[in-house]
Amino acid sequence: MKSARKFFVGGNWKSNGTISSVKDLVFKVLNPAPINFSKVDVVVAPMAIHIPLVQSILRPEIQIAAQNASITGQGAYTGEISPEHFKDQAVPWIILGHSERRNFYGETDQIVAGKIKRTLGAGIQVIACIGENLKERESGVTTEVITRQLSAIKNSISDWRNVVIAYEPVWAIGTGVSANPNQAQEVHAEIRKWLHANAGDVAAKTTRVIYGGSVTDANSNELIGQPDIDGFLVGGASLKPGFISIVESCA
Ligand code: PGA
Repeated sequence: MKSARKFFVGGNWKSNGTISSVKDLVFKVLNPAPINFSKVDVVVAPMAIHIPLVQSILRPEIQIAAQNASITGQGAYTGEISPEHFKDQAVPWIILGHSERRNFYGETDQIVAGKIKRTLGAGIQVIACIGENLKERESGVTTEVITRQLSAIKNSISDWRNVVIAYEPVWAIGTGVSANPNQAQEVHAEIRKWLHANAGDVAAKTTRVIYGGSVTDANSNELIGQPDIDGFLVGGASLKPGFISIVESCA
């Protein structure tokens, strides 16, 4: 707990897993783990097709997220799953704006903002992902990029209490090269400064800003020691037993 903020750890399983490996992860790793849920919110994001299975076997203290949702509602939108459908399926969180969605599927800041608006409107909480790529970092425009991404999101947010911001530098995702604690803290502090100026003092103090990008049980302790890092969004390492050590580093 950092003042008014409870720690938050998300596991983004991405397009990984089979029925059998998902069952193993739930029964062998997640369900038996000694987790202090009074200190940390834990949310896992299976592939959409696995969500009903995970809901039926996962301990209730761990919450479930979808990894994406459509900007449209119910109707003639072949292949899409809308926030309203996830609401009907009792899914409490959706990850939106992940860099893989932005980069591989052409999601612009405006599309991400539209999805966030629809999702919050459906009564689902959002893990909103932002972050610069390597070229942007090297050319010194990280602050401009995250400011642009946050500003696009701003108009979609009615209540920041339903939003967790995930700062995920694209160059750190799946590369094994995490931002070092100082690099991450620097951007998290910028995000909190932005929140203060654009969403007010309460939102700045209470909104969780989590870090993602090559988080493992080897670097989570150091990262969580930073004043503005409130938890993690974990990709690859969330599929392994070490995920529990990452959670434990928060609690
Ligand atoms: P990674 O992914 O932990 O595998 O780097 C993080 C993410 O994409 O959320």
